[in-house]
Amino acid sequence: MSAGARHERLLEAARETRGFMPDEEGLALALVAERSTLAGFSSVVEVGSYCGRSTLYLASGIARALSLGAASAVVFSVDHHHGSEENQAGFEHHDDTLVNRETGRMDTLPFFRRAVEKAGAEDLVIAVVGDSPTIAARWKADAGLVFIDGGHGEAPAWADYRGWAPHVCEGGWLAIHDVFADPADGGRPPFEIYKRALSSGEFEEEPGAQTGSLRVLRRRSGSASRSSPHGSDPSTNS
Ligand code: SAH
Ligand code: MG
Repeated sequence: MSAGARHERLLEAARETRGFMPDEEGLALALVAERSTLAGFSSVVEVGSYCGRSTLYLASGIARALSLGAASAVVFSVDHHHGSEENQAGFEHHDDTLVNRETGRMDTLPFFRRAVEKAGAEDLVIAVVGDSPTIAARWKADAGLVFIDGGHGEAPAWADYRGWAPHVCEGGWLAIHDVFADPADGGRPPFEIYKRALSSGEFEEEPGAQTGSLRVLRRRSGSASRSSPHGSDPSTNS
């Protein structure tokens, strides 16, 4: 590994990892993870690991906070590793080298695992492998930051919002990727859940953090997380 602070080496590792996170947005994401960790929150949740690119930006932010004296924190990165609809063969974001030759299905887990290992980030990153809403409905650890970048279709995006937004602690952050105000730039669901988070009154924009298609919100004080016992039930679809 080259010289330089650990958080900088992790940024380099993120840039070398395949994925869908532009550097400028990754740096903004790292900054939120740093803030969350400096604020004393011990976990970040990411929905949509893919090959670990955005995960390593988050890990870099945590590492920087640790170097400034923060208490230990980790990123739980959730993914079933079989790809979103938009990653499947025939769709725009398909990468054939990620298909497991035996099963014929996408499997990004070996790539994710290797990227985290190569970056030397196994102490900062924990893979949570499975269906996101199923995990969210059973999740107990409060999060200082939830980053939603899973399936971008209507059903998966809303299930991720309903399942995970309640886990953001008071004073914590909710970040959403691929939010496009103009339909010509990209799909609607991430934008719609971002609007809903704002109109819920539970979240407000984090000043200065909006970068590219990354939107960063902060849970208002007094708006309790996990307010409804059924708030994260994926079968609730209203
Ligand atoms: N954050 C990554 C990109 C994530 S791509 C980066 O910036 O590089 C979206 C990921 O969401 C895919 O890897 C896909 O497998 C995952 N995903 C989609 N639907 C899911 C679900 N229901 N449960 C778990 N993971 C899901
Ligand atoms: Mg994305």
